[in-house]
Amino acid sequence: MSDKIIRGITASPGIRIGKALLFKGTKVVIPKYYINDDEVQEEIERFEDALAKTKKEIIGIQSQVARSLTKDLADIFTSHLMVLEDPLIEQKAIDQIRDEHKNVEWILNDISLKLIQSLDSIEDDYLRERIIDISDIHKRLIANLQEVEHTTLAKLDEEVVVFATELTPSDTALLDRDNVLAFVTNVGGKTSHTAIIARALEIPAIVGTRNGTSNIKNGDRVIVDGVKGIILVNPSTSEIRDYVTQQQELLILEHELSKLTHLPSVTLDDAQISIFGNIELPEEMSQIRDHGAEGIGLYRSEFLFMDTYLADEDTQFTQYSKVVDFFYPAPVTIRTIDVGGDKVYGFTEQYKERNPFLGCRAIRFSLANEDMFRTQLRAILRASYRKNVKLMFPMISTVEEIIWARKITNEAKEELKNEGKDFDDNIELGIMIEVPSAAINSERLAKHADFFSVGTNDLVQYTLAVDRIGEQVAYLYNPVDLAVLKMLKLINESSKRKNIPASICGEMAGEPLYTMILLGLGFRSFSMAATYMYPVKRIIRSVTIKECEELVDTLMDIETTSDADSFLQNHVKRKFPSLVK
Ligand code: PEP
Ligand code: MG
Repeated sequence: MSDKIIRGITASPGIRIGKALLFKGTKVVIPKYYINDDEVQEEIERFEDALAKTKKEIIGIQSQVARSLTKDLADIFTSHLMVLEDPLIEQKAIDQIRDEHKNVEWILNDISLKLIQSLDSIEDDYLRERIIDISDIHKRLIANLQEVEHTTLAKLDEEVVVFATELTPSDTALLDRDNVLAFVTNVGGKTSHTAIIARALEIPAIVGTRNGTSNIKNGDRVIVDGVKGIILVNPSTSEIRDYVTQQQELLILEHELSKLTHLPSVTLDDAQISIFGNIELPEEMSQIRDHGAEGIGLYRSEFLFMDTYLADEDTQFTQYSKVVDFFYPAPVTIRTIDVGGDKVYGFTEQYKERNPFLGCRAIRFSLANEDMFRTQLRAILRASYRKNVKLMFPMISTVEEIIWARKITNEAKEELKNEGKDFDDNIELGIMIEVPSAAINSERLAKHADFFSVGTNDLVQYTLAVDRIGEQVAYLYNPVDLAVLKMLKLINESSKRKNIPASICGEMAGEPLYTMILLGLGFRSFSMAATYMYPVKRIIRSVTIKECEELVDTLMDIETTSDADSFLQNHVKRKFPSLVK
């Protein structure tokens, strides 16, 4: 048996066996001292020099990433440059040097601490992970001020598994790809830029281990299991043997699955199924296309606007157009912002609610902030000029909301027409079905919508009254609960009766365990993250609709959710042992 097992979150899948290397990164020491009047100018110049040097470094990393990886990944560093080039931050630092007579390292440390604190209080993983980006820039600036060499993982003498408290996006992008077998960090989550780069580099990574580094010594032998999200420290010979076999099986499976890219997603009895991608940031789009997706089924626009203000129309237009042009002529479904609930942003701070998931979230927020909504609608409409965009509203719970949202969309169209701006006048307008009232009234809602997209993450949460991010009640969060299955059945039947398409874009769509159920319930279109596309397609191509329907009937007859869950697990595992663990 191994000495210890460390648990974390898989950011990039795969299994690797190797020697641990503890990476401490650049040690940042912040000297703090007061300066005299006659030293102020010199201090400002020191700051400007370090700023210029840091910008140059980031541009260097950016072009290296663009050359060796992709242009989209290089764009990650554009946001670093935007912080460095932000005139407000620069001026603030200069003013504080002048007013407070503190040395520049001290001032910069205060500024970044404040930024980090404001992000840290936000209950949104994506935003909290931007802290790593800020600390990346901060460390580089301080290293340049003190003329300290920035330690990197760019050149290593032997193959290692890197353990670090955190890895910045630039540390990750510059990793020695021949020698870093995998990496493990104490902080971070699936949506961090570091995780996105790891997936693009196809380096297995486990993040969020909390105290992973304190359970490791340099040179320990480790197994990184990026399937289960665990690390085995000093494993036994039999564990190593076992994992070598699993590693080989996984390689064969990956190779086999990648052959599916250009094969149609069609069941054994000829039902055509569409697979679309879910996207949060434009950086993810190449990977989605490389996996053979037919377009984007869900573009979650809120992740573009994580600041204290909502981006203006042109900025939004540019961001949407990047994805829309990339996929043209394939369709891209852009969802208007879904803030509130667990997604709290600087600009939503005025809404401090007792029960945020039931509060001013998603379409309710947009309708309560009509100017902001109109700006977003205008930007999406403008991006639709090549006619491959669909517009979608999140969390519709009443007929009035869709009527109101449509009315504002029509007004925005009129404005654009009067201004002579191009857009798709026939743009399809769909709604997300993710609350029970919408599911129950879906037939009536269908009269007002061009398509449905089912957000199962929320539908399960609201149907079962289980907080989707609550650890204590996680055991109750189960998509095979009879109540959820009935909701899904009803949504699909309504869409059929009203002749509008209905797809699934919640996590359930990408979970191989549930593919047969969704097919059996009648859904023929799924939208998911790139990594899930091959396993789901493999299942689609190996089943008949008839057997899926029978499976749903059986499940619906089982008395308890836990028995239904065990039955499903056994059934799918038996049929697809390599795809469902
Ligand atoms: C959902 O609820 O299933 C969904 C896709 O939306 P989000 O996860 O962004 O709430
Ligand atoms: Mg949702």
